[in-house]
Amino acid sequence: MSNSHLLNTYTQWPVSFVSGEGAYLKDEKGGSYLDFVGGIAVNALGYKDPGLTKALNEVLDSGVLHVSNLYYNAYVLRAAEKLASLSGMEKVFFCNSGAEANEAALKLARKWGSGKNKSTIISMIDSFHGRTYAAVTATGQKKYHQHFAPLPSGFVYAHFNDLDSVKTLVDEQTCAIIVEPIQGEGGIIPATEEFLHGLRDLCDKHDLLLIYDEVQCGMGRSGRPFAHQLYGVKPDILTTAKALAGGVPAGAMLTRGSANDVFVPGDHASTFGGNALAARGVCYMCDRLEDEAFLAHVEAMGSYLRKKLDELQAQFPDLITDVRGAGLINGMAISIPPKEVVAKCFERKLLVLSAGSDVVRFVPPLIITEKEIDAAVRILQESLKGLSS
Ligand code: PLP
Repeated sequence: MSNSHLLNTYTQWPVSFVSGEGAYLKDEKGGSYLDFVGGIAVNALGYKDPGLTKALNEVLDSGVLHVSNLYYNAYVLRAAEKLASLSGMEKVFFCNSGAEANEAALKLARKWGSGKNKSTIISMIDSFHGRTYAAVTATGQKKYHQHFAPLPSGFVYAHFNDLDSVKTLVDEQTCAIIVEPIQGEGGIIPATEEFLHGLRDLCDKHDLLLIYDEVQCGMGRSGRPFAHQLYGVKPDILTTAKALAGGVPAGAMLTRGSANDVFVPGDHASTFGGNALAARGVCYMCDRLEDEAFLAHVEAMGSYLRKKLDELQAQFPDLITDVRGAGLINGMAISIPPKEVVAKCFERKLLVLSAGSDVVRFVPPLIITEKEIDAAVRILQESLKGLSS
């Protein structure tokens, strides 16, 4: 197999997966890998979920994979209704990815602010919002900006979990604040209660839109349908993608209150947004998240994993410096480059990935079991034995 025709945008492991079931993937030679990456927080139901397969087949069998947004599609209407009900938001715009959902949110915020002469958007240092131009500009990490100047103007950066640093940036030009309730790529850092509540108060006081990027931490990963529900503070705009359609590409921007009526026909669109196959996937994912027992499982498995990682930290105090997260989005901060751990685990057929510069990230399928967590932690333990700080 050759990669000579692939553009050089990814560093890839020398493996190609051909099948999967539950939390396991099989490579071409029959090697079985325990997956704590889950397509980077996409495959919430793992592989070969019978309900998802049946739901998607329903659309394939209908022959109508796609109709344009010039017409209605029953799955899209149902998906919007279900998402609104799960999130407490009111309106939904469908697109195809996280970056695209954030692009929609940032454009909406700019249009909302245009009548008020407000256009500046505050985002957080070490945030991640995607790779398209506005989303990457909102991303508060210089390494993603390098080489791509000129970036869109009107973005400023505050420190995550530091309300005063946000307050000092707010002025009469500010129109919105965008924040991940749990920073993902930046190193699995949950917002503090005080920070999210403080941002809401700040937005209410200064007439700003609050945007939550739940592309990674949403769709059940935190143990609630959306991570901000752990905090009880609502946004004006919510973005989601990744696990939204159980592995079919999908993204969505959800709005509430004064954000509902900003866009009118012609302002924004996406050919594939609300694609029938993706919308059926969204409906199915929402059905699963409506089940409290499913969410309770995520919460229980998350606590179990963190307990096991805490035990590992006690065993390797020089290597492991912190264990943190919520539900099944967790990170283990370490004193050596996380890639070294990721590589050792890969050799032992456990898939994990890094986040930020010093964190090993665990975002397994939400159906993961205690037995599988035990197996993963055993491999981690073996991997750490061969490494030292
Ligand atoms: N926002 C967050 C919080 C993310 O973690 C990501 C991707 O990792 C994105 C946005 C971008 O999503 P996508 O890669 O689907 O464009």
